[in-house]
Amino acid sequence: MAVRSDRETGAEVARALRAVEDPELPVSIVDLGMVRAVTVSAGAAVVELVPTFLACPALWLVESEVRERATGVPGVTQCQVIWRPGGWSGADVSEAGRAALAGVGLVVPGDEGTVRCPFCGSAEVTATSAFGSAVCRSAAFCTACRTPVEVLKTKAPAGAAPGPAGAAAGPPGPAQPVELRLIRRAGSAGTGSSPDGGEAAGAAETRRAGALMPWTNRS
Ligand SMILES: [Zn+2]
Repeated sequence: MAVRSDRETGAEVARALRAVEDPELPVSIVDLGMVRAVTVSAGAAVVELVPTFLACPALWLVESEVRERATGVPGVTQCQVIWRPGGWSGADVSEAGRAALAGVGLVVPGDEGTVRCPFCGSAEVTATSAFGSAVCRSAAFCTACRTPVEVLKTKAPAGAAPGPAGAAAGPPGPAQPVELRLIRRAGSAGTGSSPDGGEAAGAAETRRAGALMPWTNRS
């Protein structure tokens, strides 16, 4: 039996990681650009990952599957996963990854922050809600082909560490916060001192929506 070098084993671990999908996206973590480094030394693998979205509740699931796949490779007895937060951007998604995401109506914003419809390619995509079907997505609508699309969030929510492609990459234009119309009880409108705190909560929600939807399309 040939003895493999650490480098060969590491390459095999990297290949094995292609089988790990993001629990909320139908794409391998490799095609998403989440895998930054794989090293193996004396049977111990170290896998460095970047999260696509810091608030993703499924990171622990990715981590346990990475460990499982890595230690499934002959010669690997243990696996350490190191998260490197904040370094991911939409540009890290491979062409295959983009194609797979587009197949389910999900689009990754370009580095310049523009969004193109995954169905017709039009830039006439309007944000409709900061909240899509998963925490890492926002909802939008293509006015060209009149199809709802979802946009992969490429920025962490306010307060989280910004990525290198975050604040620096976007155009300095005004953000376009999404207006969330909260249903208010009769009599609670007007002052911010309503018993349910509706006014303050509404403002906070609107700010939050703006922070979560950093992309803007320019015509
Ligand atoms: Zn379209």
